[in-house]
Amino acid sequence: MISFDFKYFKPSSVAETIEAYNGVHEQGEKALFISGGTEFITFARTNKIYTDAIIDSKGIPECNVLEMRDDNLVIGAAVSLNKITNSNLFPFLGATVKQIADHTSRNKITIGGNINSELIYKESILPLLLVDAKVKLAKGNDERAVLLNSVFNRKLNLSSGELLLQIIIDSSNIDLPYISLKRTKFSKVGYPVVSVAAILKDNRLRVAFSGVCGYPFRSDKIENIVNDSTIPVVNRIDQVMDNLPSSIVDDLQGSREYRAFVLKNVLLDVMEEMEMGE
Ligand SMILES: Cc1cc2nc3c(=O)[nH]c(=O)nc-3n(C[C@H](O)[C@H](O)[C@H](O)COP(=O)(O)OP(=O)(O)OC[C@H]3O[C@@H](n4cnc5c(N)ncnc54)[C@H](O)[C@@H]3O)c2cc1C
Repeated sequence: MISFDFKYFKPSSVAETIEAYNGVHEQGEKALFISGGTEFITFARTNKIYTDAIIDSKGIPECNVLEMRDDNLVIGAAVSLNKITNSNLFPFLGATVKQIADHTSRNKITIGGNINSELIYKESILPLLLVDAKVKLAKGNDERAVLLNSVFNRKLNLSSGELLLQIIIDSSNIDLPYISLKRTKFSKVGYPVVSVAAILKDNRLRVAFSGVCGYPFRSDKIENIVNDSTIPVVNRIDQVMDNLPSSIVDDLQGSREYRAFVLKNVLLDVMEEMEMGE
């Protein structure tokens, strides 16, 4: 049960959404956008979150788009993870999000909700960081499309009242060789101990991580190391371990030492699979 009352809005356009948000805000109250609503419900039930109103983005047509438009794949923020996988429009993203939660939950969990999750994992962001995806954001009367890499730093940096509308991927980045490897503590379904996604573009490996540090990341420094063919692969992996952007997570899913051990093995698998040298 949720212990507090809140207003529920389900606008059918971006303009109505902003109007609803401003209306709540003007009364000095807090409004929260939701897409699938699963995280909101979980956090509200356990009093980890409070809001006076929720604004459901599922009724906004732009947030439900999933199609090729000219040379771009456009994915609305309210599209479920299962729809992305089943569409097969972007196999790398489809394979990565298929590793999140169980099949029933993935019918509800949306890509916008996963990217903006309060949890540290946000695994759907990994392929998007690697293919230089853009995000379309709306605030007030303004809409802007910007490179995800320019607004994602540990989390998607949205300003108050800013809504993620869509994710846009250039079709030239859709069919690159990829690998997406996730290791969990017990079963296939579970938060990642380590999740690594990689693509090969212009003979260079691009790689992104979740579950390792307290946020998902892609790092130029790490990509320079993994692509340095003058160094044996095992030594490159040791160097990666020395150049992580912050300390390795140490929690109930896995100790720091265990995660480091798993990460080294996953990196070895990635390098082997992508034929990155001996
Ligand atoms: C059983 C289970 C297993 C899971 N396993 C994993 C896992 O292995 N890996 C992983 O990465 N995650 C995992 N998750 C976490 C899940 O991906 C997140 O909780 C995700 O936020 C749920 O998506 P949603 O659409 O229901 O989010 P919602 O509850 O709708 O929203 C989540 C957050 O995103 C914000 N938000 C939503 N839409 C927008 C928008 N359009 N613009 C701006 N902000 C928005 C909301 O305000 C809220 O803060 C798991 C969840 C469950 C239930």
